[in-house]
Amino acid sequence: ADEEEVEIRSEPVSTADGVEIEVAGNVGTAADLGPAADRGADGIGLFRTEFLFLDRQSPPDEEEQYETYLEALEAFPDGRVVVRTLDVGGDKPIDYLDLPDEENPFLGERGIRRSLGPDADLFETQLRALLRAAGSDSGGNLAVMLPLVSTVEEVRDARETLDSVAEDLESEGAEYAVPEFGVMVETPAAAFMAPDLASEVEFFSIGTNDLAQYVMAAERGNEHVAELGDYTQPAVLRAVRATVEAAEGTDVWVGMCGEMAGDPDLTELLLGLGLDELSMSAVTVPQVKQAVTETDTEDARKLAEKALSAGTKAEVRRVLTENTQS
Ligand code: PEP
Ligand code: MG
Repeated sequence: ADEEEVEIRSEPVSTADGVEIEVAGNVGTAADLGPAADRGADGIGLFRTEFLFLDRQSPPDEEEQYETYLEALEAFPDGRVVVRTLDVGGDKPIDYLDLPDEENPFLGERGIRRSLGPDADLFETQLRALLRAAGSDSGGNLAVMLPLVSTVEEVRDARETLDSVAEDLESEGAEYAVPEFGVMVETPAAAFMAPDLASEVEFFSIGTNDLAQYVMAAERGNEHVAELGDYTQPAVLRAVRATVEAAEGTDVWVGMCGEMAGDPDLTELLLGLGLDELSMSAVTVPQVKQAVTETDTEDARKLAEKALSAGTKAEVRRVLTENTQS
């Protein structure tokens, strides 16, 4: 359906058989908050914090970050705001950080790897601001998410830092709260280790932009391998399913915040794969909400089963097309 024809739903939506699905917005700057709310997002599933650090000579201090996180919480007083800690390196350079010259920056020091290494101070400052925002009386519900996790140790180390930041704030008598804590699943290692990671966190959010890149060994944004790096590749679908499966029967909820989540033609498939939350750029929130209301969970499961047994991308596409036509 045409974008303009789709109704904007400001309330949370459920599938035709009554399963509530969170449809959230991705934001890349504070200016994206209003549009996400206007398009009916239930919350923010991915708040990219890189913008706070870009186009300046030095990093933002704790106070500046705190104010920005509060702004996000105030924009979604009834929803959840998932803030991702700084994800630099790879395709996201920042001048004053003195990032290393790497032959393969996508396989280098990026995301959580920097936060537990050369950017440890920045990580601590960011966590202080986040825990203080989580403890404010803004009403919103803040969650913290780590980018580019590939080992259980990284999560434990990050949790240790979070705990020590909480201790510091406690001894200072500051207002704070320990937020929900989760990881992005965007490396094959994280998808394989999801059963173990599930004991360490409260949620997963699948980043299909990087996950497809790393599963398929096809650089994101490189037009020569764009077909190969497509998120409907069966290998990507199976990595998504493995991640969701690892969380089933636990209290861990699983979202998706890569581009795939915002494709309304895939909503039924994604619900069939078992996702609890979908987060996307504001534009497609109404279409995806519409698609959720039209989905029957049992049919979606059968569709996912068919797609998961497909051996080629063409077959996955055929399964999806036949489903639309039937
Ligand atoms: C992803 O990798 O899918 C993702 C959502 O993160 P980013 O695009 O910021 O790397
Ligand atoms: Mg990513």
